Amino acid sequence: MATNGKRAQAEVPREGGYLPRFGLDQGPITEVHAFWLAGMSCDGCSIAAVGAKHPTVEQLISGTIPGLPKVVLHHPVLSVTAGERFMKAYHDAKNGKLGAPYVVIQEGSVADEDIAGAFGGYWSAMGANHETGQPIPTAHWLRDLAPGAAAVIAVGTCATWGGIPAATGNLTNSMSVMDYLGKDYLSTLGLPPVNVPGCAPLGDNITETVASVLMFLAGVGPLPEFDELGRPAWMFQSTVHRGCVRAGNYEEGKFADEYGQKECLVELGCWGPVVQCNMVSRGAIGHQGGCMNTGGICIGCTMPGFPDAFAPFYKKPPGTLVSSTISRQTGSFVSYLRKFTQRKGNKTTRWLEDNAVPSGWANVDGNTPTADKVVGFFYEKIKNMGTEFTPGSARQKELQKSASRFLEKGPQQDIAAE
Ligand code: SF4
Repeated sequence: MATNGKRAQAEVPREGGYLPRFGLDQGPITEVHAFWLAGMSCDGCSIAAVGAKHPTVEQLISGTIPGLPKVVLHHPVLSVTAGERFMKAYHDAKNGKLGAPYVVIQEGSVADEDIAGAFGGYWSAMGANHETGQPIPTAHWLRDLAPGAAAVIAVGTCATWGGIPAATGNLTNSMSVMDYLGKDYLSTLGLPPVNVPGCAPLGDNITETVASVLMFLAGVGPLPEFDELGRPAWMFQSTVHRGCVRAGNYEEGKFADEYGQKECLVELGCWGPVVQCNMVSRGAIGHQGGCMNTGGICIGCTMPGFPDAFAPFYKKPPGTLVSSTISRQTGSFVSYLRKFTQRKGNKTTRWLEDNAVPSGWANVDGNTPTADKVVGFFYEKIKNMGTEFTPGSARQKELQKSASRFLEKGPQQDIAAE
């Protein structure tokens, strides 16, 4: 029915009145407003978002991604307008006068404004009440904008789970967006809060999630797969450890005992084996950097239990002694055996036959030590058990011989036979 970002409106009840609700079946959406709210935050999530590469914030706000509606971003730091001009769209959305669908993106946890209000203050606020002139707490913006939002997207661990402001000793009674809105909250698209955790989250995780939700909103993509906590499943279903560049070291029982070494960092306090995050596989910015890629440990910042469940940081996580001892035992044996295969793989057939490597780089011994020969002989037997065709096997040699005979006869043999 309506186009150019204008959607027909139904009404959803909310505290103190009704908000317009946008349906999915009323024509193409060309424009979606995004209201950024910053609660108990350090603005790190905003910085992460503007560093995103796939897609970039610029691509989202310029509407250059095919099929994706243009995003009209209202951000307290990035927007070029200020004061009442900046706040107008927030008030319009709250009062049902925006005339376009919108999403709410919250960074930072939601503080209990009743506590601050009892002393006549506030924890975090944006804009002013037109009647009283008093600052409007961001928690109240979330309360008032969430019922009419097509989606509420919490970015960063403070917004998704509570994070550092909600850690032990939580004087502000800070909580996550999902704690604040409650279990029954659904956006106008029928979605509970979407959660993109991380301290700060990967910028690409933020923009990709926003883009995926917008694609669904625009009717050009399926509903993205979210897990039981509203995390984009394709980003958070695996552990850091599985994608870690140091996982091979862990498997072979090789552990760093100080920073700057290339081995696995678990004994320095890395929680990667249990933490769900795609940091090392995706990289921090533009597929570069990321905790273990640059020598840092994982402190579990994407997890709901962060920080309490992972403190004290930079200490061996519980269970490390058991797992690293097992890895050391099995890994040292496996890596010893792999050396045989590696040594063989590092020689050409000619070098093996000549027992010499003509390298001018170093003195490479072409001869295989006797001890290696003995262990290697039995290892080859075990390794090839159950395989019919292996490098150097009788079957392979037979095939190589027949290929040689064919080449010796020349390519005309078949033609001559015909
Ligand atoms: Fe796993 Fe951490 Fe070691 Fe990487 S550094 S392999 S994530 S324990």
